[in-house]
Amino acid sequence: MQKITAQSARTKLREYFLNNIGRIMDTKELRAAAGGISEWARRIRELRTEEGYRILTHHDRSDLKPGQYVLMDPKPAPAFERAISKETRALVLDRNGFTCQMCGAAAGEPHPYDPTRKTRLHIGHIIDKSQGGTDDPGNLRAICSVCNEGASNITLERPSSQKLLAQIHRATGSDQLAVLQWLMKKFPSQAHNFLEKT
Ligand SMILES: [Zn+2]
Repeated sequence: MQKITAQSARTKLREYFLNNIGRIMDTKELRAAAGGISEWARRIRELRTEEGYRILTHHDRSDLKPGQYVLMDPKPAPAFERAISKETRALVLDRNGFTCQMCGAAAGEPHPYDPTRKTRLHIGHIIDKSQGGTDDPGNLRAICSVCNEGASNITLERPSSQKLLAQIHRATGSDQLAVLQWLMKKFPSQAHNFLEKT
């Protein structure tokens, strides 16, 4: 019998995922695709962490069950993102409040434009490399996978307070209260001071 090496199992799995873009696959199928080796799950992890393939699981999408995997985007995350240190990544995410800087989706919460997906944040450039941007932490920001794939089709412009208030005026009372709650949690001392004065 031909011996399946870790490297060849990984190659098999990579090809299998790329030939089945968008199709949800379970452990049984993927184990077989890897040549029946016991460490197939570890090879999938390597495809994610070392090669940057965005293979989604139930941690990323609420419609997936544990043990189900799907690759939606054949393009792996760029090398620069994989090369970013844990410290830089944490710094950028913290600075951006664990929120996508394009659409405002919060990490781990259902995505506002695709509620079946949990928001997963990537690190992207503020000024694109093609326009002279660097990999310096000052030029990095948090971007969700939906915006990263260009799926949400939202302009880069930050909404002004005027536009935001206009949107809030139109919202239902319960949504307005949700905004109030979020703002009070974010700015507890300011909310307190404001209430003292009025
Ligand atoms: Zn986004």
